[in-house]
Amino acid sequence: MWAELLPIGRHPGSGGYRRYAWTGADAECRDWFREQAEARGLTYEADRNGNQWAWLGDPAAGDAVVTGSHLDSVPDGGAFDGPLGVVSSFAALDELRGRGARFTRPLAIVNFGDEEGARFGLACVGSRLTAGQLTAEQAHRLTDGDGVTLPRAMEAAGYDPEAIGPDPERLARIGAFVELHVEQGRALDLSGDQVGVASAIWPHGRWRFDFRGEANHAGTTRLADRRDPMLSYAQTVLAARREAELAGAVATFGKIAVEPNGVNAIPSLVRGWLDSRAADQETLDEVVGGVERAAREYATAHGIDLDVVRESFTPVVEFDHALRDELARILGKDTGLTVPVLGTGAGHDAGILSGSVPTAMLFVRNPTGVSHSPAEFAAEDDCVAGVRALADVLEGLACR
Ligand SMILES: [Zn+2]
Repeated sequence: MWAELLPIGRHPGSGGYRRYAWTGADAECRDWFREQAEARGLTYEADRNGNQWAWLGDPAAGDAVVTGSHLDSVPDGGAFDGPLGVVSSFAALDELRGRGARFTRPLAIVNFGDEEGARFGLACVGSRLTAGQLTAEQAHRLTDGDGVTLPRAMEAAGYDPEAIGPDPERLARIGAFVELHVEQGRALDLSGDQVGVASAIWPHGRWRFDFRGEANHAGTTRLADRRDPMLSYAQTVLAARREAELAGAVATFGKIAVEPNGVNAIPSLVRGWLDSRAADQETLDEVVGGVERAAREYATAHGIDLDVVRESFTPVVEFDHALRDELARILGKDTGLTVPVLGTGAGHDAGILSGSVPTAMLFVRNPTGVSHSPAEFAAEDDCVAGVRALADVLEGLACR
């Protein structure tokens, strides 16, 4: 499975993946998913919101156990974030069939569409639409960097954008959702464990800061006469780092757009996107509030107009305690070991679904802790341990 997936959407220069929603690389990944489903005799379906499902057993029977993740990537992402969960799901099913497992509940493997939000700026579009956390009207307004709207992109990929929206019937069929994911930090590496169980996802959001000044000639405009938004933007980046350090949180300006974007031009606009996450809501509010206050101060000092818009927000997600404990019990059964339970600063479809169905996550060790980069890694042994753990969990949940 890895051999087939590895070349898809890989940039020859960076070695990273560019699998953005509704592009050619995304379509290739989706074809691969369908082939994997059909090769195993699973019933394939794509839902109205662009998520793909592979069913074993009758979906209408209800109380299904669902596992899976996503196949899209961030710009120049790693090979594991997303695909590890989907590949492990198919491999876990193979493992269970090898064990002669008899399923008493329907099982499904899912590939959620547009999880990373790399193209349209909003993460987890497929699962948000399904769970009713994003309306069709809001989704229809999403536009990529080239001015292509989400509906046009979906249409070009052969989907009907008018059909998107909440899908409570589909959610009602799911009794439990378990997402396996490469860890995006070093907790398991530090504790010396191959696999862990998620406790919670930190609240997180994205804010757009628009600093507007005045474009002018970089050679002939006296420093004193400039209204250069880059200066207040730069100071704001430093403020974000300072606020995050003080609060024990994280805050990042990782994307920027500059107009007119000329080497010899003072910018008229600097648009920076802030991503911030913290262990609890109060801390996150403090950090973002502090960054915004600092930005306003700097903007005023330089004669810059500032607009701050919250583009997305996901509150803290506590995974279902009963399911989490059940996972820890299943995984500790043979070894008698305590399975590490850890929080994460990364968002996931599992977090979106947790509002509607009992949801849990398994993490596989990532020795560098690096993610959203080609350096993201998981050792083969650890991936195999992840597949076994997922198989144990699915067996414990769906074969009783
Ligand atoms: Zn992911």
